[in-house]
Amino acid sequence: MGAYQDFHKRSIDKRDEFWAEQARLIDWHQPFERVLDYSRPPFAKWFVGGLTNLCHNAVDRHLAERGEQKALIYISTETGQSRTYTYRELHAEVNRCAAVIMAQGVAKGDRVLIYMPMIPEAVFAMLACARLGAIHSVVFGGFASHSLASRIDDARPKLMITADAGMRGGKAIAYKHLVDEAIRLAQHPPHAVIIVNRGIDKDFATVAGRDLDYAELRAQHMDTQVPVTWLESSEPSYILYTSGTTGRPKGVQRDTGGHAVALAASMKHIYCGHPGETMFTTSDIGWVVGHSYIVYGPLIRGMASILYEGLPIRPDAGIWWKIVAENKVTVMFSSPTAARVLKKQDPAYLRKYDLSLLRHLFLAGEPLDEPTHRWMAESLGRPVIDHYWQTETGWPILTSAPGVEQTPVKYGSPSFPAFGYDLRLLRETDAAEAGPNEKGVVAIVPPLPPGCMTTVWGDDERFVETYFTSFRDKLVYTTFDWGIRDAEGYHFILGRTDDVINVAGHRLGTREIEEAVQAHPNIAEVAVVGVADQLKGQMPLAFAVVKDAARIATPELRREHEKEVMETVDKQLGAIARPAHVHFVTLLPKTRSGKLLRRSIQALAEGRDPGDLTTIEDPAALDQIRAALAAASA
Ligand code: ATP
Ligand code: MG
Repeated sequence: MGAYQDFHKRSIDKRDEFWAEQARLIDWHQPFERVLDYSRPPFAKWFVGGLTNLCHNAVDRHLAERGEQKALIYISTETGQSRTYTYRELHAEVNRCAAVIMAQGVAKGDRVLIYMPMIPEAVFAMLACARLGAIHSVVFGGFASHSLASRIDDARPKLMITADAGMRGGKAIAYKHLVDEAIRLAQHPPHAVIIVNRGIDKDFATVAGRDLDYAELRAQHMDTQVPVTWLESSEPSYILYTSGTTGRPKGVQRDTGGHAVALAASMKHIYCGHPGETMFTTSDIGWVVGHSYIVYGPLIRGMASILYEGLPIRPDAGIWWKIVAENKVTVMFSSPTAARVLKKQDPAYLRKYDLSLLRHLFLAGEPLDEPTHRWMAESLGRPVIDHYWQTETGWPILTSAPGVEQTPVKYGSPSFPAFGYDLRLLRETDAAEAGPNEKGVVAIVPPLPPGCMTTVWGDDERFVETYFTSFRDKLVYTTFDWGIRDAEGYHFILGRTDDVINVAGHRLGTREIEEAVQAHPNIAEVAVVGVADQLKGQMPLAFAVVKDAARIATPELRREHEKEVMETVDKQLGAIARPAHVHFVTLLPKTRSGKLLRRSIQALAEGRDPGDLTTIEDPAALDQIRAALAAASA
């Protein structure tokens, strides 16, 4: 048996022993009495009786050994600023911030909503809340006021922390203004709002008695030391809302000890980050990837973490690689969307810088198609690891773990179940396990491992209902994704269980058809949706972005190209999966976290209202869909 297979097997068969070992990777103020309390399935309590604190593990613990080493490296290509904090400096800032928050009457268990751009103060605020045992909820900066208001009402924060503005692609986004709007809409607004004034929005409104200036408050606490509040391991550390690709976002509640242990273990065995090195996660702290691997993961590991405010292609498509080279980055984490953005740029940018210290590039968040995976790995000359996870889990579900064993990468596959996950592929019909190369629902036999969500915030029932009731007579956690395992044990994610098209009785995953379309060398990205059809039930429709626009420059060429794409699908999947049309666009509608909004495309194609668009990245993308549909029916 391979070393990793062994490791994984032990994590399931000798669960308590395995996790007790991993738990040594963090500091405990008081040791736990039991590894797991699973007396109330599916609710799991990890490291029962243990007292610990996330902020202590991310900051204080490192002072003795690496106080003068870098902890946070802030780089903004939006404002041209950069700032570096050593662990000692980070400790001082977090204490100041904790004192400021505490002075607002925030105590253990109170919620603090953080709505901030990617600036160091956002990280200070998260760590400060953790220090106090206050439950933070980071809401992705740039969500419109409506989305923000619904999260305020769900989390009911005592305090909000924001900034005057964020910057994106050189344009200012008025955060404070959005907060004012959201508070007006909310039923349960906070009593105070702290504003980090960056001087970008010169004329935001200030509400007397509610709005406070961070710089002023900080100045009153330059030397204040705030003691760490020790939490019992299963006490909540934070709430983070899912992306909302499939509907109303769920407030994922995370514990304290399990979260810290899972992150520490993943940093070692999966990401192969070593203390003193630098990690660069290109996500945003408002997404789970950034939350876990810009802030807590690397800091718990004693690494320096890069906080990047900016786009991947500004000032040019070499910016990330320049950052990697200049900061001696050894671990990098990004998304398939970003890889596809870079794929449309000159690959020479990837060779311009010395990336020899970079061990791996990890990608997660949505399906990584085989051609993009291959392109990225070959252009970069470094191993690119796809891994699959959810906001719910907080760390990877499927991944390779090069820290345990360097298993070969298969393009398009996130490899194997991460340690601790008893992962099964279950047939939708009878919940029996799918055989090799047979499609099944990706499911996890509970208890969920440490670090995974412990419940839906304020709604235990919704937790059980949503995730554990898909199969009658079988208590399993459903991911709502389809997967397949090949004969060598490699997994492939085939898309979401609700993204299924029924063509004349054949059930086809939109993701499978997208893969087939993408096999055409001129397709950069594509979205496939099922559209109601009188004859066949549903028909697939494709919306594709091409690499070389010259190939669709005239209506004739377009038709020709469309035909070629259809033939590619015929060859890959069979004529049954052939899209009724392939529409060419230059932009696809996505959530701000880079996920395709297939539901909205489908709605437009069926002449319905596109629904809640508060999470859309660029509304212009929907106009293109509308235009393409109109042109086709004209
Ligand atoms: P909601 O649950 O509110 O609809 P969401 O599922 O989009 O939102 P996230 O938790 O951000 O919210 O996304 C997790 C989902 O992203 C997974 O369930 C899966 O569909 C997709 N995903 C993540 N990583 C990968 C990957 N490596 N390969 C394929 N799909 C992935
Ligand atoms: Mg989801």
